Amino acid sequence: MQNITILGATGSIGKSTIDVLIRHPELFSVFALTANSNIELLLQQAQLCSPKYVVIADPNQFKHAKKLFSDHHQLSCEVLAGDEALELVASAPEVDIVMAAIVGAAGLLPTLAAVKAGKKVLLANKESLVMSGDLFIQAANQHNAQILPIDSEHNAIFQCLPADFKYGELCSSGISKILLTGSGGPFLTSPLSDLHLVTPDQACAHPNWDMGRKISVDSATMMNKGLEFIEAKWLFGLESSDIQVVLHPQSIIHSMVQYLDGSVLAQMGNPDMRTPIAHALAFPDRIESGVSPLDFNQLANFTFTEPEADRYPNLILAMQASSAGQYATTTLNAANEVAVDAFLQGKIGFMQIAQVNEECLQQTSPHNLDTIEAVIESDNFARRLSMDVIRNLSQPFIQRVGS
Ligand code: NAD
Ligand code: MG
Repeated sequence: MQNITILGATGSIGKSTIDVLIRHPELFSVFALTANSNIELLLQQAQLCSPKYVVIADPNQFKHAKKLFSDHHQLSCEVLAGDEALELVASAPEVDIVMAAIVGAAGLLPTLAAVKAGKKVLLANKESLVMSGDLFIQAANQHNAQILPIDSEHNAIFQCLPADFKYGELCSSGISKILLTGSGGPFLTSPLSDLHLVTPDQACAHPNWDMGRKISVDSATMMNKGLEFIEAKWLFGLESSDIQVVLHPQSIIHSMVQYLDGSVLAQMGNPDMRTPIAHALAFPDRIESGVSPLDFNQLANFTFTEPEADRYPNLILAMQASSAGQYATTTLNAANEVAVDAFLQGKIGFMQIAQVNEECLQQTSPHNLDTIEAVIESDNFARRLSMDVIRNLSQPFIQRVGS
């Protein structure tokens, strides 16, 4: 029986994780569930999973959460709140597995706490690698943490690599290239001239995947693929030239590994995050996930194209930031979080997300990020900068839409 903590239990990945776990009560028991503020859902999840602890990240919700949970006498879990509590339940000695599924930079410290405690870490929070890849991988090695990728592309690559693959050693493993696939999002074929009119709801309506709003917008701008490009470099020790981004709008192939002899291994499946979650939970065994099997008689066709640079400026920015170094990827990640939030609130237009990101990168000088404190300071600086850039955009968004 393995004990698991789910960081970000109330999100899209968190809910899928619970769906897989409850199919296997003989294999897994839940130690802790965490949420930012959705106490009602957290309560329902606690009734289903009987955790020892629940954590509300937002301390302002603590009283409300305590009251709600104490009204339900049959629940014996303890209610905690705040950032320290997140780190506590990620690193407690009783915990075997941590699902790192908080969205954004907020996931960094609790995920790192799990890594430093030598846990089996199921990594959905790609932002922690984008912000602090070098420190993160060092910590994993030093503390013997096992990092298993949940992002469907990285999980696919992991499954297609040889079992004895050594970090960064592509050539000696007979590998020529990693093919990172992406759907291209909802605006793959929209006229470029219409993209500035895209609304938050349109951007969040992904054709194949059902995800949280931040990653949905990132998928529409392909910043998500850019973050995944950086994530792949850190996870597998790759150079930029080792990775090719390929658009595959059907989202059935989740990524591929090309070998020197011309073989290409692809991992396929229906686009449902319960597959990579079940894979990582049970690794190296296999368990049932609830995902329906692929029906090849129903698959019409597979297509592949190259992403267009002027449709996806965020993808290009992320690749450039990745070459510039850790300061640039941390800056880009923070600037983008602020810009996406502003877009979701209707304050900036869809194509202005990339404009804000680019201006933030241009206004940031190279600096060293050799401690986690430096990473957090750099993240904070980039957030303030991004807010300034948004305030100073040459024309307010509303006027642009009307013009
Ligand atoms: P989501 O928005 O649906 O859920 C986010 C979770 O994080 C929620 O439980 C929320 O309560 C919690 N949270 C938000 N802000 C927080 C804060 N400040 N402090 C503590 N907790 C906080 O997001 P999601 O789509 O589940 O994505 C989660 C992570 O997984 C992201 O890093 C995303 O990039 C990654 N990911 C998601 C998918 C997907 O299909 N949804 C696929 C691949 C990777
Ligand atoms: Mg992905």
